[in-house]
Amino acid sequence: MDDAQQTPRPFDIVVVPDGRVIGRKSRAFWRWVWALEDIGVFVAVVADDYDNTTTEGRKKMRRDADYAETEWETIRDRTQGGLQEKAELTPAAHIGGRAPYGYRIANKGTPGSYLVIDEDEAKVIKHVYDLVVGEGLNLRKATVRLISEGITARSGKTWTRDNLRDRIMSAPVLDATLVFRGKHAQRDEKGDPIWGDSVRIELPRILTEEQSEELRRKVAETAKHSSGKRWVYPLSGRVVSLCGKGHSGFGYAADREVARFYRCIGNGPKDLAQESCGCSRIDADALEKHVWKHVTAIVSDSERLQELAAEWIGMAAGDTAALVDRIADLDQQIEGMNASMAAVIVAAAKQSKSSDAIEAATAVLNEELQQLQNLRDEAAEWLAEMEESDRYARDLIALASMAKNSFPDMAPEQQAAILSMLELKVTITGPVPDDRRGGVPCTVRAWYAAAGLTVPAAALSDEEWARVAPLLPKGRGGTVRRSVDAIFYKARTGKSWPNVLKETGATIQASKHFNAWTSDGTWSRVNAAMADVEQVPLPELQLLPSMVIEGRVDPSAMLNAEERSRRECR
Ligand SMILES: [Zn+2]
Repeated sequence: MDDAQQTPRPFDIVVVPDGRVIGRKSRAFWRWVWALEDIGVFVAVVADDYDNTTTEGRKKMRRDADYAETEWETIRDRTQGGLQEKAELTPAAHIGGRAPYGYRIANKGTPGSYLVIDEDEAKVIKHVYDLVVGEGLNLRKATVRLISEGITARSGKTWTRDNLRDRIMSAPVLDATLVFRGKHAQRDEKGDPIWGDSVRIELPRILTEEQSEELRRKVAETAKHSSGKRWVYPLSGRVVSLCGKGHSGFGYAADREVARFYRCIGNGPKDLAQESCGCSRIDADALEKHVWKHVTAIVSDSERLQELAAEWIGMAAGDTAALVDRIADLDQQIEGMNASMAAVIVAAAKQSKSSDAIEAATAVLNEELQQLQNLRDEAAEWLAEMEESDRYARDLIALASMAKNSFPDMAPEQQAAILSMLELKVTITGPVPDDRRGGVPCTVRAWYAAAGLTVPAAALSDEEWARVAPLLPKGRGGTVRRSVDAIFYKARTGKSWPNVLKETGATIQASKHFNAWTSDGTWSRVNAAMADVEQVPLPELQLLPSMVIEGRVDPSAMLNAEERSRRECR
């Protein structure tokens, strides 16, 4: 449709393989066909040989579409009537769709299907009640707890706070009711419901009325505590500063600008006698993205993890079979030794030797037996360790595939739970680049990022300058051209204004020009005029200091990733 409204029109006839692709079973079909006809585009449907370029074809199409619509209405009437009756008469009736969380469908697939409590899900609901009402957690913290306890949502995926809120704070769970039709009951002109009035379906209770009330109150209360914009800082308490202290997250929203940071707790100490450590704040989005990318890369790399695990345990995987053979062999030897000992004892007894004499006779054998036994014990222990590492390797593979599939778009609270399991620690080892701006991106970069534009790859040629000059005010002695070059240079390199001015020979006027030209639209026009010259993307932002990222998947395997990021920007 969008294409059809363009001038010149890119086509005159739309050919579709089958009426269904344009929604024959609904009014959408006609809206579509007529809208196209209005602008002189005709539709030909290949499968049914419709063609609305002819009167005959149009008639046929209308006939079929009308028929389809009548049919659809009959089906709708029939199902709606049946459902209404069922909602009114069957206790805890299941009126279609998925069962609400906490419930499952009994007699599924039969007309008499109804909802009963799903014991597993009810357990989760009661657990959340305990966490929120008992321990005073808010829903976000309760979500983190569920994730770290390995409790998943119905889909088998990890919980998110929004999903948990939708499932637990629902009318079926808290009020034990399900409203059929509800607000969506269609009404005619007189206001009477067309298909029947909405029906309240009573469900068996999971929480008592008092518990539901308490839960509702507590959730509202904990939500109010952290009023306004709520942000999660998955790395809070996990970042160690240059001065050796931890970081905590903080953020603000002002002038439509949202900023989140991690700040060293030695910065602005509560005890005024103490001096501030002077550590710079770190851009939270950049740091979280960087760390999470690392964690995902490392945890997804199952081979590397297994190598680490094998190294840690001090064994290569794969020789369990040899060890099992050795143990069997030792068992046989021990058995043989026991038999020989028995034979010696029997022989000595027959010769009526004293117990001292018997002991002396078996002493050597006994010593040998003890050695065999020790060897066997050692081998068995070794085997157990190897089996353990085997199991561990399998877990790692499972973890790796999970990381590959679900880490990239994990919600912050899920990230926080994973990072806590990994005991993740980030140690800052260098200064934050360009800390005079505290990580706020420069305005030139921000403008290009917001406009979604790339930057000319090289300085303007005389020919290119001639093209943009008419769009700009006249300057004296080439000031305007130097400003244009400087702004492009800054966008291309991400260097700071002082460096840009030094390297391009422009004056501080360049920065003023940029502000003026972006606010009156001049800079947009300049970029539009340059759209066909070779372009490069914006440079990567260097907001992060160098750092070491460490974590452990398990006491036996260390994740260790060292990352250095270079200083630069603006
Ligand atoms: Zn500090």
